Amino acid sequence: MDIDPVTAPFGTVFGPKMAASRFIDGSYQPLEMVAPDDISVHPAAHVLHYGSSCFEGLKAHRQVDGSVKAFRPARHAQRLLNSAARLRLPEPEFEMVLAAINSTVEANASSTPYSPGSLYLRPVIIGTERNIGAAGRPAKEAIFYVLASPVGPYFAGGSLTLVVETDLPRTTPQFGSVKTGANYAMALGLIERAAAEYGADQVLFAPGGQVEETGASNIIVVHGDTITTPALTDGFLHGVTRESLLELAPTLGYTVDERTLALDELLSLISANGCEVLLTGTAAVVSPVGTLIHAGVHHYVAGADANMHAARLRNALVAIQTGVNEAPSDWP
Ligand SMILES: *Cc1c(COP(=O)(O)O)cnc(C)c1O
Repeated sequence: MDIDPVTAPFGTVFGPKMAASRFIDGSYQPLEMVAPDDISVHPAAHVLHYGSSCFEGLKAHRQVDGSVKAFRPARHAQRLLNSAARLRLPEPEFEMVLAAINSTVEANASSTPYSPGSLYLRPVIIGTERNIGAAGRPAKEAIFYVLASPVGPYFAGGSLTLVVETDLPRTTPQFGSVKTGANYAMALGLIERAAAEYGADQVLFAPGGQVEETGASNIIVVHGDTITTPALTDGFLHGVTRESLLELAPTLGYTVDERTLALDELLSLISANGCEVLLTGTAAVVSPVGTLIHAGVHHYVAGADANMHAARLRNALVAIQTGVNEAPSDWP
């Protein structure tokens, strides 16, 4: 490979093989290994007109023993099936999703960089039926595939600047907890505006003054030995990274406090002490927020200089992802 995937922009280099299955005549066909270029989509495909798509994002990490292993694939497989159900896309068997992830990892193992690089995996389901008259019903044909992308870190390092949005929601209520393309398109205008006005990296959605998440990451606040984070609702994405960190937190001496988090309270935590505000996600891992901009006012997160908790939580997670430490035995 000529391009170094670790320094190339995240998600622009692709592994040579992917597992794929077509849904035709009412069932998914046996998985095949194909090249990304082997998949073509007709201009009339349902997904291109009516948005019938959902996806997952997980990583496989090179282990200390040299092998390559996906992190919590069962959690991601389950979430993909939940998304497919919500989008009225045909659901593959859970075991087929796991097999597709594992065989894609195996087929691209030699293209997987060492930590902090990894093999980013994109399981995708799209409606492929060629029928522009089918606006009012689900696609009868679909493709499920697992695209692989060798990657380096998503964020360059340093701390992030977020603009808080309290008026517009990130997505519609029925799609808040699914990964579907339109959610990201909906947020683009706001992210572009935040970048143009403030040079911000992302938007933090807090509709009606209740903190939810950013465009593609969950948010946690560490103050003292407490981790506070919004409790799960249907309105935002239930991150596997968030869940994993909350499960590890007690073993690192933190108390977990999941509840509704008002923006006012977040801002007073930031002004009161050296708390840390962190974004969590498969791509972001654990990324510190340095500045929150609300109603034109900059709120600086004092703890972002030291990043003590960010480093501690990230190291604990990465040690499990790379096989330095064992995962808790009850982790699916
Ligand atoms: C994917 C995603 C996350 C993070 O989920 P992980 O499972 O931790 O990767 C958070 N918010 C949104 C909107 C996402 O799309």
